[in-house]
Amino acid sequence: RVKHDTKGGFLHFKEEMDASVKAKRTLEAELRNAQPDEQFELHYQPILAVKSGYLRGFEALMRWNHPRIGRVSPADFIPLAEETGKILELGAWALRAACMEAASWPGDLVVAVNVSAVQFRNGGLEAALTQALSDSNLPPHRLEIEITESILLEQTDATISMLENIRALGIRVALDDFGTGFASMSYLRHFPFSRLKIDRSFIQEIAESQQALAIVRAIINLGNSLGIDTTAEGVETDAQLIALQAEECGELQGYLFSPPVNQAALSQIISTYLQPVQCDQARLEQVA
Ligand code: C2E
Ligand code: MG
Ligand code: MG
Ligand code: MG
Repeated sequence: RVKHDTKGGFLHFKEEMDASVKAKRTLEAELRNAQPDEQFELHYQPILAVKSGYLRGFEALMRWNHPRIGRVSPADFIPLAEETGKILELGAWALRAACMEAASWPGDLVVAVNVSAVQFRNGGLEAALTQALSDSNLPPHRLEIEITESILLEQTDATISMLENIRALGIRVALDDFGTGFASMSYLRHFPFSRLKIDRSFIQEIAESQQALAIVRAIINLGNSLGIDTTAEGVETDAQLIALQAEECGELQGYLFSPPVNQAALSQIISTYLQPVQCDQARLEQVA
């Protein structure tokens, strides 16, 4: 971003660069020293089954509340944590905290936890998963990890066997942000994912764009023929909901239903959505 002023655009640009490099270094240092238990928390966003409107579970999303800087977005601190290796500590913390929380939920509610490619490559992931499950006593089928296609870029035997080991533990594996990656789709032949999460960028446009709708339809059909469930991410409007219902998408997630909420607000959401034929069913009928 070059601004033109009396100093001349370039100089100004350089100053801005220096400032942003400095800000990044500061953030990096703060992140390195941050104790997960003190500065981090998980927020949870409900995932709903389309047909019944029932609550299926929650996605856990990490939040960093720095005492001085304030709230830092995951879009800023996750990449930084990946660069510095801090994601290993944060990721293990998140897995454990999410499993502990989910163990207190009623029924078979699932918790979905995002796992970074760095955790995946490091080799300690299986141990972190086993530890989180045994500390929390959460049955493995109630844990789902969300991975992105970047993990599958190098489609090595090691990647596949690690995914298989995780599945053998009874843990589900979802493919996040589906449709945005550059990996070859052939990985779908080699590994049985439990679900595909259709990226928000497609969902955003389905009510207006025939192209976006065609892509979403193709992903849902692909999932159905492979026996893989599909979840639409980022559902914000009734028009998007109606389009997704017509396409028989399996599950929904988005601000239309709820943003990610803190732990204190969870019980309210659970009691609202867990009651049979409650508010969400009414909403689905109302807009259908
Ligand atoms: P993601 O896993 O694809 O998570 C979905 C993101 O979309 C979340 O952003 C969520 O708050 C946001 N979202 C949900 N519904 C809507 C909607 O209707 N409209 C819009 N505009 N956004 C919606 P968030 O929480 O900022 O997280 C961003 C990304 O950071 C996540 O994308 C994930 O890739 C990463 N992330 C978050 N928590 C963790 C974590 O614990 N571990 C790792 N490795 N990555 C995480
Ligand atoms: Mg996710
Ligand atoms: Mg996603
Ligand atoms: Mg994402």
